Amino acid sequence: MERFRFICSRCGKSEPFSYKAVCDCGGTLLVDYDLELVSQTLFQNQLSLRSSTMWRYRELLPIQHQSSIVSLGEGWTPLLRMPTLEKELQLPALWIKREEQNPTGSFKARGFAAAVSIMNDFQLKKAAVPSNGNAASALSAYAARAGIEVVVIVPKDCPGIIVEECVRYGAKTFLTSGLIHDAGAILEQGKQRYGWVNVGTLKEPGRIEGKKTMGLELAEQLGWKLPDVIVYPTGGGSGIIGMWKAFNELIALGWICGPMPRIVSVQESGCDPIVQSIHQNDSRFIPAANTSSSPTGMRVPHPPDGDLLLSILRQTNGTAVTVTAQEIAVSQKRLGRCGISSSPEGAAALAGCIRLRDNGWIRDTDRVVVFNTSHADKYIHWAAPPEVPIVQDYHDFIAAYDG
Ligand SMILES: *Cc1c(COP(=O)(O)O)cnc(C)c1O
Repeated sequence: MERFRFICSRCGKSEPFSYKAVCDCGGTLLVDYDLELVSQTLFQNQLSLRSSTMWRYRELLPIQHQSSIVSLGEGWTPLLRMPTLEKELQLPALWIKREEQNPTGSFKARGFAAAVSIMNDFQLKKAAVPSNGNAASALSAYAARAGIEVVVIVPKDCPGIIVEECVRYGAKTFLTSGLIHDAGAILEQGKQRYGWVNVGTLKEPGRIEGKKTMGLELAEQLGWKLPDVIVYPTGGGSGIIGMWKAFNELIALGWICGPMPRIVSVQESGCDPIVQSIHQNDSRFIPAANTSSSPTGMRVPHPPDGDLLLSILRQTNGTAVTVTAQEIAVSQKRLGRCGISSSPEGAAALAGCIRLRDNGWIRDTDRVVVFNTSHADKYIHWAAPPEVPIVQDYHDFIAAYDG
């Protein structure tokens, strides 16, 4: 029996699963599981006996052969209560989902664990990805483990440490003076000649399905009771689509009941097409014309299916919010003072949460989850050097410490 098929998120047509992600109508194909079949082997009360990785939900991942699975230990990241921030923001509960704990230091690991496992199923041996950095390093690591050849292209202002990671994992690594979609255009053009598959956002089913496990985990970690608000730094949107899909599948399985959490996308000023689009009265997404934000995972002026993103944010009564580089820096410090190393994206998510709390959109009864999608250390080349005193001897130390 067929465990899963595709269903088009735009026209609703069903078709057999294959190595693609776009319907003939142009809509994004989503994996549609036979949930009857899933519920014969996946039981809530036995999950705790399973591995502490995202593969604990293997029935809800589109891998045909167990032996195809490529894992570096991704997923099942801590969900941490933040008592100090709760007090400061006057919230009944605020959690940070610590995605920086994943292999390669970001949640991109989830998407590429799934994407590379699917490549194994289809016996594909060459992959390419356009990326702002973390997708490139995650693909590089998983492909190295699977023995798959990799090409990555990232914008030339990508943090140097992330570029180094790609090289370390053996990827053929290139910089471009353009943005992520320019890198994508180059790789699409090279497909024929070089024979790679493009594992860019929404080019194949694995990226969404892997990130879906964040939503499954949230539900499980919160005892099958969803939070009221999820705040997520958004770029290409696979995380938003994935989590929304997770909640729908859990509702269909009867494991949780509604309402859906209100999902919030956070972007940085200078590239905030999701925010611009949500504040107009049209279901059609407007890509960003100009881009002047920092080189982070949120800098995606042309997400592949902006319409779907918008519809998800609206369906969940969510919203989108822009934060400034200054607010990101302040939030990064604030998280640091709580013991959390946050990437600019994770800090942006907290900054977005603070904004929405300040303007009342997040209410004083809301239980909130903020995603820290990567850690600070990957970005040190463009972050301003921390202003710490330099001490040469004990005398210096005393002067600096006391003064
Ligand atoms: C890719 C990335 C994002 C954006 O996530 P999407 O699911 O692609 O929208 C946010 N933060 C970090 C650290 C990323 O690498």
